Amino acid sequence: MTHVLKFGGTSLADAKKITFVSKIIEEKSKIKKTAVVLSAPATITNSLEKVIQLSLIKDKNYKKEIENIKNKFYTIVQDIYKNNKKFLLKKIIKKINHEILFLKNTSKNIYLLNQCSDYIFAQVISRGEILSTQIMKNILFTKGHSVKLINPVKNILAEGNILDSYVNISKSIRKIQKINFLKNSIILMPGFIAGNKKKELVLLGRNGSDYSAAILSACIKSKLCEIWTDVDGILTCDPKIVPNAKIIKKISYKNIMEISNLGAKVLHPKTIYPLEKFNIPCYIKNTFNKNFIGTKISNYKNKKIKNIYPNIAYIEDINIFIIKTLNPKNINKIYKNLLKINKKNSIILFLSINLIHIPSINVYFKEKNFKKIDFIIKNLIFNKEKIYKKKIYKKISIISIIQNKLNKKRIIQNLNQILYDLNIKTMFDLQNFSNNSISLIIKSKYQNQIINLLHEKIINNYKIIQIFLFGIGGIGKTLIKQIHREKISLKKKNIVIKICLISNSNKILFQKNGIKINTWKKKFNTITTKYLKEKFLINKIKKIIKKNNFINPSIVDCTSSNELSKKYLYFIKNKFNIITANKKFNTGNMIDYKNIRKKTYTNNKKFFYETNVGGGLPIIQTIQNLKQTGDKLISFKGILSGSLSFIFGKLEEKILFSDAIKQAKKKGLTEPDPREDLSGLDVARKLLIIAREFGYSLELKDIKIKKILPQLCNSNINIQKFLQETKNFNRYFLKKIKIAKKNCKKIKFIGKISNTGKCTVQLEEVDIKDPLYEIKNGENALSFYTKYYQPMPLVIRGYGAGKKVTASGVLSDLLKTVV
Ligand code: ASP
Repeated sequence: MTHVLKFGGTSLADAKKITFVSKIIEEKSKIKKTAVVLSAPATITNSLEKVIQLSLIKDKNYKKEIENIKNKFYTIVQDIYKNNKKFLLKKIIKKINHEILFLKNTSKNIYLLNQCSDYIFAQVISRGEILSTQIMKNILFTKGHSVKLINPVKNILAEGNILDSYVNISKSIRKIQKINFLKNSIILMPGFIAGNKKKELVLLGRNGSDYSAAILSACIKSKLCEIWTDVDGILTCDPKIVPNAKIIKKISYKNIMEISNLGAKVLHPKTIYPLEKFNIPCYIKNTFNKNFIGTKISNYKNKKIKNIYPNIAYIEDINIFIIKTLNPKNINKIYKNLLKINKKNSIILFLSINLIHIPSINVYFKEKNFKKIDFIIKNLIFNKEKIYKKKIYKKISIISIIQNKLNKKRIIQNLNQILYDLNIKTMFDLQNFSNNSISLIIKSKYQNQIINLLHEKIINNYKIIQIFLFGIGGIGKTLIKQIHREKISLKKKNIVIKICLISNSNKILFQKNGIKINTWKKKFNTITTKYLKEKFLINKIKKIIKKNNFINPSIVDCTSSNELSKKYLYFIKNKFNIITANKKFNTGNMIDYKNIRKKTYTNNKKFFYETNVGGGLPIIQTIQNLKQTGDKLISFKGILSGSLSFIFGKLEEKILFSDAIKQAKKKGLTEPDPREDLSGLDVARKLLIIAREFGYSLELKDIKIKKILPQLCNSNINIQKFLQETKNFNRYFLKKIKIAKKNCKKIKFIGKISNTGKCTVQLEEVDIKDPLYEIKNGENALSFYTKYYQPMPLVIRGYGAGKKVTASGVLSDLLKTVV
């Protein structure tokens, strides 16, 4: 039983790697009879091609390029034999010199004659393979192995284009089988090369050594072909675009063919045919991770590999011609005609017919073939009728998802969602260029972003949330910490939150692919561009939104900015969800209030504001649930301010009013200026939001606020002075508490909605039966008397302020955008 191993250029890039490869060959040859196909060391084929190109344009630098090639081979062999075996080094240097001399003479002729036939071209650029095989032969020979070299020019018979030939497998089998292989010898063959009928050296196309390996496998009836490269196997996507691409462990011949045709550079496309025809399983393995199993390509029945990952392949720099005729009935015939023309030169990648509007054909091809295709189409005449080339699209990419038993419905849903979120239009309908694939035609500039998102969605199954965070006070900062802390547990639930933008009132930190949470503060502090007005800052953010595309983006508003809240509608229209702890929008005018709800619905976006009332307590959600199930509010009563709950709780403990305020401020429960809490405006806002949620059409001015303080205090004085002046109210509150206590009641600052919808905010005495009686220490309590909840009300009680609970409420709103 024989197996074939093929090593690519990166596996043979230097002496160390070549030696390492020789060890793999030795190990394998101990187990089974081994045949080896080798590429040229990395970059050599390109350098050889460059020598020809430079000679052709009479650029003397071709000599330098030859020197580079010579030096590269010298370094390789000198490193291999650096310690001993000088005579072996001499022997191999002689071989290198021989090839370099050939190179010098040939390129000189090309330089002088200004021409290079395909035959000469093939001779020159195959030198890399010839030399790497010689080097390997010597290494194995020195280690005592018997080595049999196969000359592909004599034994692999190829037909067609000299530079991109096809092998006649049956004739090659006959030739190879005539060779007498010694039982224990290792077989070596340079890849990329074959011979034509005239026994001239021909090539199998760039990267053709894979094909050589498949052919040799077929010729020597190998039971296994291993392609050794520099990646762990076939990946779900190009790792240059998706660094965390996954390995596809098993794949069928059919699928691999589709993947190659749709752009994945996994194997030379011609390689599959001989493997499939002779049913030879093939492994893609990593030379630098040799014990990893790799990817197995085989004749899998659909059932066996149902659960493997799909592959995302792409082809960039595509041009598209759309061609039409005067007589649309001819379209099918023209299509066949184009297929026929393409059979000869295969420069058209795909053809598709659009029959929906005016029948037309899309011709997809690589930019570099523009002139040739243009010529073909210009000369295409059908039934004496000229064909019209309607439109040319340039810089297009084809992104394809390929999988056995592809769940097309799921893929289409995901694709549409991504396009919708990114606000990107496809050029044409989704295409089926093969049985097990769906392809998206898109402007190349969107390619990488779409591929990444697709990979996250359909392979990693991630739900992505991108956020723009406004406000980095207590709540904003805590939110960032919570997101960071929950990162791993969210990832387990397949949720990934990326903070793309952080802003306060004058600075912006933006990182399209997500700001690193560990270092955000440092980065933020180094930003020197400051926006003098919030308006300018928002304009800058609008520019960022226009320039970039985001996936499931959310505005997270942890400010109390009016200016920002006025932009919510703009954000919704630009496909952002809004998550806000800021009450300004929901207490603005009723027209905007209704409008945003309509627009959120029509744009299929979310507007969540659970933290507008009661911090993280589930208030808004509860009201919406009640309403949805037909409940109706009769009346409402609640302690809606954490700071006032704290202050009036302290008064019951005989603490003076002025001291209670100071304590509340110290605990961070009040606004920076406690007058804002004491004004009752914040409670009025919350009450308005509750009333509106129950369906009342009210404005802020409709909420009656009965002032807490018995007289107006001077609003011109600073906070410190004000705090001192609060002493003047100590006696007033002591008296109030005393009177209430006499009647077994307590004083609370309450927001109320009456059964007629009248909303008031005021100090009120409550008795022991009232659910608000015990509320203190910053707790909130809300009691709803409704059609369903009476005579006992529905009561929600808990801490309704504080950065941790509020930030967690914001986070929970955020997570609702992906469920
Ligand atoms: N050395 C050739 C090339 O670079 C063939 C191969 O490596 O497969 O195209």
